[in-house]
Amino acid sequence: MINSLRGFRDLLPPESDLFARIEAAAREVFGLYGYQEIRIPALEKKELFVKSTGDTTDIVEKEMYAFTDGGGREVAMRPEGTPGIVRAYIEHNLGQTGRSGKYFYIGTMFRAERPQAGRYREFTQIGAEHIGNPSPAADAESISMLIRLLEKLGVEGCSAEINSLGCAECRKAYREILLAFLRARAEKLCEPCRGRIERNPLRALDCKIDGPALAEAGPKRSLCPSCTEHFDRTQHLLAAAGVSYKVNPGLVRGLDYYTGTVFEVRTTALGSQDALCGGGRYDDLVKSMGGPVAPAIGWAIGEDRVAMLLKDKPAPDNAPRTFIVAAAKEAGDKAFALLTSMRAAGISSDFSNFELSLKSQMRSADKSGAAFALIIGEDELKAGTCAVKSLKEHGDQQTIPLPDAPSHIKQLLKG
Ligand code: ATP
Ligand code: MG
Repeated sequence: MINSLRGFRDLLPPESDLFARIEAAAREVFGLYGYQEIRIPALEKKELFVKSTGDTTDIVEKEMYAFTDGGGREVAMRPEGTPGIVRAYIEHNLGQTGRSGKYFYIGTMFRAERPQAGRYREFTQIGAEHIGNPSPAADAESISMLIRLLEKLGVEGCSAEINSLGCAECRKAYREILLAFLRARAEKLCEPCRGRIERNPLRALDCKIDGPALAEAGPKRSLCPSCTEHFDRTQHLLAAAGVSYKVNPGLVRGLDYYTGTVFEVRTTALGSQDALCGGGRYDDLVKSMGGPVAPAIGWAIGEDRVAMLLKDKPAPDNAPRTFIVAAAKEAGDKAFALLTSMRAAGISSDFSNFELSLKSQMRSADKSGAAFALIIGEDELKAGTCAVKSLKEHGDQQTIPLPDAPSHIKQLLKG
């Protein structure tokens, strides 16, 4: 027997149903905010992620499923969605269509990290990107849409934190100050950080080992007047939208492309896998990937972790409403036609096996959780009717003409 790979899993019912519900809620919210779907490929040129996500990030350095394909091309399974969306935006000239550049994606991502609860090697992200709008209103809209989605899903006990990393100029000035600070205490840093000081000193801030101490003791960021104003405006607009959040000056994100506003949503309910969502502004990425000047902002939610939070919430009842039973040898055709007309009328209906005994079919009907059994026996077959039996409460069995069955059941279900 062949098992699935470690860190890769099957989503079985009822969990698969939970994922479908989360995605349906996301699509509904995206529709309200004017976001349209882009389906990006799972496999891209490796270079795309090295250049956009960044070659000193954990994702690219340690976690990427990258390989040389049969044609000698260096390729990688997507570890995140933003690079693919940006590539598509540039490749298809989406900036020139005159339509709003608001896109969402839903898809599995691949990262070769140590599997544990809430951390898989293939996992699903739901992401939103707004490309081409530099306004603080785009930041506030993106963040409030995220919070709206979490509310709609009924995710509780999570908090949003925001910060601003500043523009390229702010970052350059800060990089120099931080570099001097890190060089002076290099021997106190962890091995990987020591190796990365010169290549990308900002990376140390996001290190799981050194990051927290650096946020405490390291030099503080200062923003230029225009970045300060942008961040202030964003916060005003978030307040106007009734979004509650906390400013965390120590918040940095693990990807290279972020500029300006960054944010994260964490939960207290999932132990160490506490990150639900991360995002931020990436004003220079589209240009640096060969596209037009297109300031942008986006985020990605970890759907698997959202599903873990919602697992114990009551699921909607998806038992069939009616169960069709053929209680005579020749009733199978009529029973199957009845099944078809019930479903055509929008009433979920099921059956077991019309060739089995009445007793056995009724047992299946009870097990299915259906509200009513519709039974066609010899008498009903002759009269062109069916018997309606409530499976939930004791009551009289009624007999109704077959063509009336859908409307009759609809009435009963309403009552
Ligand atoms: P973490 O700190 O948990 O590794 P991250 O910073 O690597 O998270 P992002 O790259 O910001 O995560 O991805 C956005 C979201 O995707 C995360 O907040 C998380 O919910 C989810 N996520 C990331 N990696 C995994 C994984 N291996 N398995 C399941 N979900 C994941
Ligand atoms: Mg990670």
